Amino acid sequence: WSDEDFCKILSDFPSLSREINGKRLVYLDNAASTLKSKSVIEKMADFYLYHYSNIHRAVHTLASEATVEYENAREKVAKFLNAESTEVIFTSGTTMGINFLVNSLVKSGLLSSGDTVLLSQVEHHANLVPWVRLSKFYGFKVEYIEADEKGVITTEAIREAKKHKPKIVSITGQSNVTGQQMPLELIRETFNDSILIIDGAQLVPHKKIDVKKLNIDFLVFSGHKMIAPTGIGVLYGKKELLERLEPFFYGGEMIDKVTFKDVSFNVLPYKFEAGTQHIAGAVGLGYTLDYLENLGFEKIEKHIEDLSSYLLSELMKLNFVEIYGPIDNSHKSLVSFNMIGVHPHDVAHILDENFGVATRSGHHCAQPLMSVLKKGSKIDFPNSTVRASVYFYNTKEDIDILVEGLKNVKRWFE
Ligand code: PMP
Repeated sequence: WSDEDFCKILSDFPSLSREINGKRLVYLDNAASTLKSKSVIEKMADFYLYHYSNIHRAVHTLASEATVEYENAREKVAKFLNAESTEVIFTSGTTMGINFLVNSLVKSGLLSSGDTVLLSQVEHHANLVPWVRLSKFYGFKVEYIEADEKGVITTEAIREAKKHKPKIVSITGQSNVTGQQMPLELIRETFNDSILIIDGAQLVPHKKIDVKKLNIDFLVFSGHKMIAPTGIGVLYGKKELLERLEPFFYGGEMIDKVTFKDVSFNVLPYKFEAGTQHIAGAVGLGYTLDYLENLGFEKIEKHIEDLSSYLLSELMKLNFVEIYGPIDNSHKSLVSFNMIGVHPHDVAHILDENFGVATRSGHHCAQPLMSVLKKGSKIDFPNSTVRASVYFYNTKEDIDILVEGLKNVKRWFE
């Protein structure tokens, strides 16, 4: 982008002009949720104020305007993923998408006692807890692609996990802790007979995904990590698999015929959208995709790529910092680290209070991975890390401020 274009981008995110504790806000907590765009919110406000009504049901003008906007949003998502619009189901986010899948797969008999589900050791709880819990009720097994002591999923570990002969492979496209972008082609090729589910919560905001090219069976993601509103997400599924799935939620709109004794379902994708949906959220996700497309997906990817490698290399220069995840260019958009001798909560707190830098500290909803990182750690590992994560509105200067802040924290604790 030109300087002028970039200034326009910055001015569309008013929080970035805020002062936090007397300092310009440096927002490096994008992996948890991104900031929101003024122009997307204004378009949503216009939708809410002038065109809003419930969708699908009524014959009046507002209902048809709202329905058109909602279905347009579905078309935009379909185009974005290179899918059919009947393969795009709106959800409340990644967590709901995975819970939906686990439940629907067992109810449909596509996953049953004796089958194996393969996850990786770097999964977010959203892609671990539902599988582990339901395995207790339905008797399927859960196995893992092992992470090495830096939390990296290696090619060898992926190949090694073939021995589990998984019926289903459910894996994150990009780790929210180690930043590793997974080799999806290799995973698809290695598990060519398995149903492949990708948790796209971190991947989709940073990389344009072609579900057909990658031959992904299901992909789930959340709008709020890519400047869209909270409470809206997407489940993409291959049509032939969706046809075979029993819905997770039952209720209005998802039915064809209902009697006192039985029920038949609506066609795809409505079969999976029971009840009143987050209409404005879906519409807002559509506006977001227009916005991102207008900025240029390739430019966004490139900007994040440059910032990620700068972030990693600048942190690597600090000899009082331990970094987790791969040290190569599969490490994208975020870095998790610890400062020797300082608890991550203290680091994050001081960064906020003294430098206006927003980072996240904790286990990042990946407690099992913390036990892996602890084994490989050369410090007194606090079962949590500090995580700095960038998005397209961040700059190298933001990273310099973070690094300066860390140097100061180090001095204070000496
Ligand atoms: N998977 C990953 C990799 C994530 O980073 C997150 C969010 N931190 C989730 C799943 C869950 O997403 P959500 O809270 O939007 O449902």
